Amino acid sequence: KFIVLDGPDGCGKSTQAELLAEHIRSNGSEVVGFRDPGTTVIGEKIREILLDVDHAGMADNVEVLLYMAARAQLWKEKIGPALREGKCVVMDRWISSTCAYQGWAGGFGVKKVIKLGEDCLERVWPDVTVVLDVDLETAAGRMNRELDRMEQKGQAYHMKVREGFLELAKMSDTVEVADASRTVEQVQADVVIAVEKHLGG
Ligand code: C5P
Repeated sequence: KFIVLDGPDGCGKSTQAELLAEHIRSNGSEVVGFRDPGTTVIGEKIREILLDVDHAGMADNVEVLLYMAARAQLWKEKIGPALREGKCVVMDRWISSTCAYQGWAGGFGVKKVIKLGEDCLERVWPDVTVVLDVDLETAAGRMNRELDRMEQKGQAYHMKVREGFLELAKMSDTVEVADASRTVEQVQADVVIAVEKHLGG
């Protein structure tokens, strides 16, 4: 099974991805977790290029292509093989991020992102995507470190990112939303419910 946790910066998806992986493991399934962009050697290099604060002049379409490139590599090296071995894959971000950030907030267009994904990725949509929805203020309070290039894009952009994720949930039957402004335990309970709804318990 292919599961994605996604959402705006500071929504807590890395924590929730780990907790979900533990939960699945404790139920006796083999599970692996990966972060996108990143995980592979090539993907981590692409991630560095994307997040470098000196790259303020990066063209919007280049940004989209780099996120997609990192993802294609991650599929080839890690996700595809793990799924073929019957493992459960829990992702920290996937194409839903590019839909919300570059597609919706950046103005590239959500449909164009999906079309590009269909052309470049062996599989575009996971079995279920859980979007951890959080307001900007709560999210900012959780990010006590230096901001990367994307995080520096400003409030208006990040409000649109949040909106983009919620729009995606309206468009797609396999995208669920959890209110991530609550405690870790409360959010985790909702994530498990959302995942089990799509994976049949
Ligand atoms: O969640 P994570 O820290 O891995 O995300 C890395 C950075 O990339 C964040 O600043 C996030 O906002 C940004 N990002 C993006 N567009 C994507 C995926 C991630 O701007 N499609």
